[in-house]
Amino acid sequence: MTEQLIDQKKGQKAVLFDIQRFSVNDGPGIRTNLFFKGCPLRCIWCHNPESYLFQKQLSFNPSSCTGCMACVQVCPRGVNTPVKLDGKEFLAVEYEKCSACGRCLDVCCYDARSIVGKEYTVEEVKEQIYTDLEYYKIKDEEGQTGGITLTGGEPMSQFEFVDRLLDELPGIHVCMETSGYGSTWQYERLLGRVDLFLFDYKATDPDTHKRLCGVDNRRILDNLSFLCENKADMILRLPLVPGINDDEGHLKAIAELIRKHPNIRRGEVMAYHNMGVAKAEHVGISEQAKIQRYSGPSATKEQKEEWLKRLKNYGLKHIKLG
Ligand code: SF4
Ligand code: SF4
Repeated sequence: MTEQLIDQKKGQKAVLFDIQRFSVNDGPGIRTNLFFKGCPLRCIWCHNPESYLFQKQLSFNPSSCTGCMACVQVCPRGVNTPVKLDGKEFLAVEYEKCSACGRCLDVCCYDARSIVGKEYTVEEVKEQIYTDLEYYKIKDEEGQTGGITLTGGEPMSQFEFVDRLLDELPGIHVCMETSGYGSTWQYERLLGRVDLFLFDYKATDPDTHKRLCGVDNRRILDNLSFLCENKADMILRLPLVPGINDDEGHLKAIAELIRKHPNIRRGEVMAYHNMGVAKAEHVGISEQAKIQRYSGPSATKEQKEEWLKRLKNYGLKHIKLG
């Protein structure tokens, strides 16, 4: 490979909305989580709705806003407009006009504004990962060491970057959390390079999947079969929302799937919590993504225990709360 080509590869960029260090919830050991921006699905309960869109975007928290109106003056696109209602002045934000230039952040003294998403090169991400190399060696209670987790959003949506980054990480354990909605050839390229897939399984019936997640699950099931046929190490992640996708047919299908495929270590129930609701409002996502989000209360302890019990009733041994 020529030096020019190597430089091009290292200069490849991705938009991430977070790099989280010292995570212990997304794969074994201590991990660095890379959150990729952009997702082809539109799950109505999404915990990270700021990751739906691929581009950088404005987040505005009205509860931190004092109404000083400094952002109104500085914005070149007229995104922010003072509005009077019942004698009170507040700020209306037209998100779709915003270019995420960030000028209003400089004048907002109350941290009511932020830009979600930042571009990183392969080299910049690699530098962050290598900072924590020593922590990855620490064993967890199952005796496993850590590494990095590619998550999002959907990391497969920025596949070229992922492909190039993985070339730079020999010897580092890699987990990928995925909706399964990439192309099969992409998953094929990841065999032997991603050590553990955290594969989301959200609904069994294709029409229900389309209604809840914006796309049907045929491609997802094909990719799941492909990874299972190739004995990829996998944990099935199971987002469950009370009254939305916790029907008997789905739980039975989960149990059968895990029992059938020995490469699936276990299922992990990802119980719904409603922290995504405020985040969705702050980035104005309901209007921009044109979806009706679910905003019910978080799953209770009793509901979580009930799900585990029902799954175990179908003969499933390897199941826990994630
Ligand atoms: S500058 Fe900040 S505090 Fe002032 S109106 Fe704009 S968002 Fe609110
Ligand atoms: S980020 Fe730029 S375009 Fe968007 S509201 Fe702020 S100043 Fe206006």
